[in-house]
Amino acid sequence: MHSLEEYARIFARLTRAPRSGADTGDTLKKAPHKPLLLLSVLDLFADGAVQDGRVRLSPDLGDLFQRYWYRVMPPDAIPRIWLPFFHLHNDGDFWQLVATPGNERELTTRDALTSLRDLDRLVLYAQLDPDLVMYMTMAESRTVLRDVLIQRYFAPATQARLLEQATINAGAFEYSRTLLAPRIAAEALEEYAARPAVRDQGFRRAVVTAYDHRCAMCGIRILTMDGHAAVEAAHIHAWSESKNDMPTNGLALCRLCHWSFDEGLLGADRLRAILVSPYLSTQRNIPGHLAQLADRPLFPPANVQFSPDVTALAWHQRRVFRA
Ligand SMILES: [Zn+2]
Repeated sequence: MHSLEEYARIFARLTRAPRSGADTGDTLKKAPHKPLLLLSVLDLFADGAVQDGRVRLSPDLGDLFQRYWYRVMPPDAIPRIWLPFFHLHNDGDFWQLVATPGNERELTTRDALTSLRDLDRLVLYAQLDPDLVMYMTMAESRTVLRDVLIQRYFAPATQARLLEQATINAGAFEYSRTLLAPRIAAEALEEYAARPAVRDQGFRRAVVTAYDHRCAMCGIRILTMDGHAAVEAAHIHAWSESKNDMPTNGLALCRLCHWSFDEGLLGADRLRAILVSPYLSTQRNIPGHLAQLADRPLFPPANVQFSPDVTALAWHQRRVFRA
């Protein structure tokens, strides 16, 4: 039986590669991957998303890792989540890699991985030991472990940004759960009105979840585990005017469809069939496959309760779509 203090000591002794350069002060001149991954895992526990102590590479984990990453790293630094996911097993038994069937031998002989694909092929999940699972499940001990990670590995000015991101992550999880609840009281949403970062992140999560990461227009579904989401959440009736974050006022759209929707090149009618603007055919620089979406039905969300509101679609058709 390990105590919380022992885990705090283990978390305070993570090995990290050195970083050099002028802008490395935020992370005390060391690579921040491992502490940021553990912060992301703590957030997943807060959401109840880790079962049996099995941490899997998931779009949620990748998204959290990336959000922390850009709080401390320059914009051109690529968040390679597979690095700490693999190398954390060298920091103690608390993080044990479980191989995909048939690859047990190869995994034990590897001392590095070359890519996300490599990790995906070899590693099924990371198994946390039961005592740590117990502490990560409890809010108070999560706070102790989070404080160790933030205070030990980041400069004082950076610590505040990471704490702020942790608060936003927790709020966004709650907000998306509220938005996806079968019935929502209006008051439940009011408290989020003054928290735009929480709203943005929570709305995106709710809508993308409702559509299972599929673009409602072209149907593309690319699930990346490293936080590079292919699908975004678009408001149908602009939020600035509607103040409406309900999933029925949202569409999960890939970046191209999102841009085309916001520019009025794509829309949908009252029967939820896709409208393609005549303006599109005059633009030779816009990919032709968008024109082929005309009259096709929108890909629906898994739960029809979240189907796009036809009044909102009509607003978009009237105010944004270029007829
Ligand atoms: Zn699309």
